[in-house]
Amino acid sequence: MKLAEIFKRQITVAHIFGIPVRFDYRWFIVFVLSVWLIAMNLSRGGMWVGSFKLMPVSVTVAWLLAVVTTVGLFLSVLGHELSHALMGRAEGIEIEEIVLHPFGGLARLRNEPDSPRAEFRIAIAGPAASFVFAAVSFGLMLAAMMTNYPVIGGIMFLLGAGNLLLAIFNLFPGYPLDGGRVLRAILWRRTGDIKEATRLAGVCGMLIAAILIIFGVYMAVAPTFRAYFMGFWSVLVGVFLFDAAYSVVKQVRGRLRNIVSEAMTAPFAIEPDTLISHLIDSILPMHRQVAFPVAQNHRLHGMLSLEDLKSLPRERWHLTRAREVMRPIAPRFFVEPNATLDYAQELMKRNGIGSVAVVGKTGELVGFLQSGKFKRKKRK
Ligand SMILES: [Zn+2]
Repeated sequence: MKLAEIFKRQITVAHIFGIPVRFDYRWFIVFVLSVWLIAMNLSRGGMWVGSFKLMPVSVTVAWLLAVVTTVGLFLSVLGHELSHALMGRAEGIEIEEIVLHPFGGLARLRNEPDSPRAEFRIAIAGPAASFVFAAVSFGLMLAAMMTNYPVIGGIMFLLGAGNLLLAIFNLFPGYPLDGGRVLRAILWRRTGDIKEATRLAGVCGMLIAAILIIFGVYMAVAPTFRAYFMGFWSVLVGVFLFDAAYSVVKQVRGRLRNIVSEAMTAPFAIEPDTLISHLIDSILPMHRQVAFPVAQNHRLHGMLSLEDLKSLPRERWHLTRAREVMRPIAPRFFVEPNATLDYAQELMKRNGIGSVAVVGKTGELVGFLQSGKFKRKKRK
C-alpha cells in the first residue's frame, strides 16, 4: 500500500499562466515506456510513414529522437489541457490545477460551468487544440519528407497521429471525456436539468469504457491481430474511464436521492400547555398544517392532529391543553433527517395524521414534513 501511495503522490513541475501543472510518479513509467517503444521502432527501421518505410538510425540517435518525440507528445497533452483551462478562465472560472496522469490529463476547474454554453466551450477547446496540433504536425511532416528529412518526418508523423488520436478519443461521447461533457451540455440545454444530464453522460462513459475493455481483450486474443500492447492499453484506458464515469454516476445518484432533510420545512411546534382555543384562533390561521408537533425545549412530546380535534366540542376548546389531546410520541410519528422520502411518505400514509416530525440524532426537533406539501429544492 505504501508503494502505491508514493506512486500517486503528485509533484508540481511548472506554473503556466499561474496554473500549477502536476503529475504523479506513475507518469514516469509511461514516459520510459513510450521512449523505449519509439526508440526500438526507430533503430530497427520498422516504422512506416504512409507507404514510406523509414531507414533504421543508430541506437544513440534513436533514443535521442524517442525522447524528443515523447516530450512532444507530453507537450501535446499539456497543450490540450491548457486549452481547456484558458477557455475556462475566459468563461470566468478559476483553474485549480492541471494534472497529467498516465492516460492523459485533466484541467481541474474550481467550480462547475454555470451554463451549458460555457460547458460546451470549455469541453470543445481541448480537442480543438489537438486537431490544430495534429494539422501542424502533419504539415511539418510533409515539408520534412519533401526536403528529404525522413526521420524528422517520422517524428512529425508520430506527433500528428498522437494528437489526432487524442482529439478523436476525447470526443467519444462519454463523461468524463470531453465528448461526454459536450453531450452533457446538450442534454443540459434541452432539459434544463444538469444532474440528470450528468448521470446520462456518465452512463454513456461507462458504456464506452466497457466497449474499450472488450475491444482490448479481443485485440489481444484474436488470432488475426495478436496486438498485445494495443489491447493491453485499451483495457487499461477502459478500466480507468469506467472508474471515473462510475464515480460520477454514483455521486449524482447520491445527490438525486430524495432524503427527508431536502424536503422538510422548519418545524413549527406548539407547547404541551398551549390551549386548543389559542391554536384554532391564533396559530392555525398563520400555519396551515394538518398536524402540529408538540414540543418543549425542542424535545418532541407528541403530535397533535386537527382530525383528532373534530371530536372535541367547541365549548371545551378554551379548557383543553395540547398535551391532553395530542398523540404521545411513537416511532410512527417521526423520522430522522437522512431517512428517504419514500420511507417518510409510507409512514405519513399509515400513521393517521398525514405528517411526521423530523428528529435529529440527539433527539431534538429539527423539521416537519406533511404529505403532499414538500418544500421542493429549487433546481438550477
Ligand atoms: Zn480534454
